[in-house]
Amino acid sequence: MTQTYCIKKMLGIEDPNIQLEEIPLEFKKSKEVNHMILQGKLTYTPHYCEKCGVVNHSHQDIIKNGTKISTIKLTHINFQPLLLRLKKQRFLCKHCDQTFIAETKLVERHCFISNIIKRTIAMELREIQSMKLVAQHLSVSNSTVIRVLEKVGEPLASKYLYLPQHLSIDEFKSVKNVSGSMSFLFLDAQNHRLIDVVEDRRKVHLIDYFMRYPKDSRYSVKTVTMDMYSPYLEVVKNCFPKAEVIIDRFHIVQHLNRALNTFRIRVMNEIRNKSATDYRKLKKQWKLLLKNEWELNFTDYKTDRLYDGLMTEKMMIDYLLSLNPRLRHVYKLVNDLRFALHNHDFEQFNTTLEESKKYALPRKVRTTVQTLFKHQKGIRNACLYTLSNGAIEGVNNKIKNIKRSGFGYRNYSHLRARILISYRLTASRFEPKALHYQDELAHQGE
Ligand SMILES: [Zn+2]
Repeated sequence: MTQTYCIKKMLGIEDPNIQLEEIPLEFKKSKEVNHMILQGKLTYTPHYCEKCGVVNHSHQDIIKNGTKISTIKLTHINFQPLLLRLKKQRFLCKHCDQTFIAETKLVERHCFISNIIKRTIAMELREIQSMKLVAQHLSVSNSTVIRVLEKVGEPLASKYLYLPQHLSIDEFKSVKNVSGSMSFLFLDAQNHRLIDVVEDRRKVHLIDYFMRYPKDSRYSVKTVTMDMYSPYLEVVKNCFPKAEVIIDRFHIVQHLNRALNTFRIRVMNEIRNKSATDYRKLKKQWKLLLKNEWELNFTDYKTDRLYDGLMTEKMMIDYLLSLNPRLRHVYKLVNDLRFALHNHDFEQFNTTLEESKKYALPRKVRTTVQTLFKHQKGIRNACLYTLSNGAIEGVNNKIKNIKRSGFGYRNYSHLRARILISYRLTASRFEPKALHYQDELAHQGE
């Protein structure tokens, strides 16, 4: 008794109606895999007949009537599947003369894979690994893993009721579809919890999506942190009329750096045929050129094989800028803007932008400046608030890894379920309930 009790506990069989038999473990080899087989029995006194519903008052109306054996895949131990050969009690109802079979929470009806394995699959799906690997490790089929994915992922989606006061939004590359394969995700900017994933990031789709939330929660959104993708501005205006837009500081800097880097490449290519050494300097020192000017070292003299004699970082930059006066211009502009941003000084940022109108700039850089003008308000807020999109970039990175682990996804809903499971599935959340989904549905129908 105590031994089988311990084994039951250890395996996580919670049903008190299941009794394990005290006979030695059986081993069987099939399809090159060793199986371990436990024997058990499931029996109890039913409260009512499942066929006609008659209540089993005196325990005389429903009698035991033989057993039916079903083999259940229980779990996986030491890289071997553990099977439970379960004798399920069959009952005969004297009222309607029909029979029915004992039920257990261990497996769903007509299913041979235990809920213990399904729970393990759900937990494994939270980690970055391919679904094929999960199936292999638990010796179940790929489609079993996908079924669990669909069943567990679905209830984790947003219920369209609540929105946090501070949103952080971004897009990610998802599966190939008509919309150019960009999807949208958003999270609570304060506690960094993922709220939902939306298939299509285009304006109309997002507005349709957010309009599903009640007006109260949409109007309570105070800030939205985003990158400089202008259709989002319209979405905010339509769906969250009381919210302030904050442009993520990192994205502003990234934009500026890209402009500077593009121009460096242009100068470098122009110089190519004139001076091979200068070309090489511009090519190799791209990182130094992007470094913040106020962080350049001007005290440590070092040798560098690109230069003769001892040089500091500051001296090298001075040399690079002397190659082209326009590069010096762009370099100064980018650094002034970055410095203002670094000090949360919007006044300074704006003055610098205004002054840049007075002199000619390369076309690409001018476009960047114009984009910054367009998002002025959001940039001002970036200087006022401390909120940023750092957390969402982390989520984005994980999504990339999930996609890579499965060698890409063709089915958007599977990718979405995977993302929701890895961010929203907590051990407590799906304890017994989420997997006894059929029970829930049955209750809803009542
Ligand atoms: Zn009956």
